[in-house]
Amino acid sequence: MIDNFKHKGMRQQLVSTVKSKGITNEAVLNAIGKIPRHLFMDSSFLDHAYQDKAFPIAADQTISQPYTVAFQSELLQINKNDKVLEIGTGSGYQTAVLCELGAKVYSIERQQELFKKTSKFLPKLGYRAKKLVFGDGYKGLVEEAPFKSIIVTAGAPFVPKPLLAQLTIGGRLVIPVGDNVQTMTLFIRKGEKEFEKTEFGEFRFVPLLEDKN
Ligand code: SAH
Repeated sequence: MIDNFKHKGMRQQLVSTVKSKGITNEAVLNAIGKIPRHLFMDSSFLDHAYQDKAFPIAADQTISQPYTVAFQSELLQINKNDKVLEIGTGSGYQTAVLCELGAKVYSIERQQELFKKTSKFLPKLGYRAKKLVFGDGYKGLVEEAPFKSIIVTAGAPFVPKPLLAQLTIGGRLVIPVGDNVQTMTLFIRKGEKEFEKTEFGEFRFVPLLEDKN
């Protein structure tokens, strides 16, 4: 696993790109500048690792575009030691960003192959999530709830009720909602049954799938 000056240089380029698209949160930009994204991708895509694009990983899934990762991470407004739930571990890149932001990370992946691969890989880079779970993200993680933030990294056809229910008061859910194209949506829990909803731009994700386990 090599991370050399060339990679570091390309990463700084990527940070500039993401910044020029409107990301201002310094901690998020630092995380993008620090994490060796090329190591999260298959070797055939190494040359593409520091382009601001999504790319295929195993099991027909994708590693999200860095700008999208940054956009969602910024919306979460993470403070150190916040308990954060991620739906869709995938390559683990977003998980690593959450770790860099100082969060206590719980992440769920429904594909066994990715779950196994990423569970082995992240600790090798020094990223220790509190818990990586093989399961169905639609259900959230009730035994560890409530969470300060929940991030969904696949396109959700609707907002799963358990995710709203597993937020702390004041907690934030960032979820791309839609079928072919998704609207990035932020829910802030204002009270037991009260949520403030804000919609942002359109993004494209692989679908959040039901009924595999
Ligand atoms: N955060 C990932 C993005 C991966 S793409 C990264 O940075 O690489 C979305 C991921 O969500 C895929 O790995 C897919 O298998 C997973 N996924 C899809 N439906 C899911 C579900 N119901 N529960 C948990 N994970 C799911």
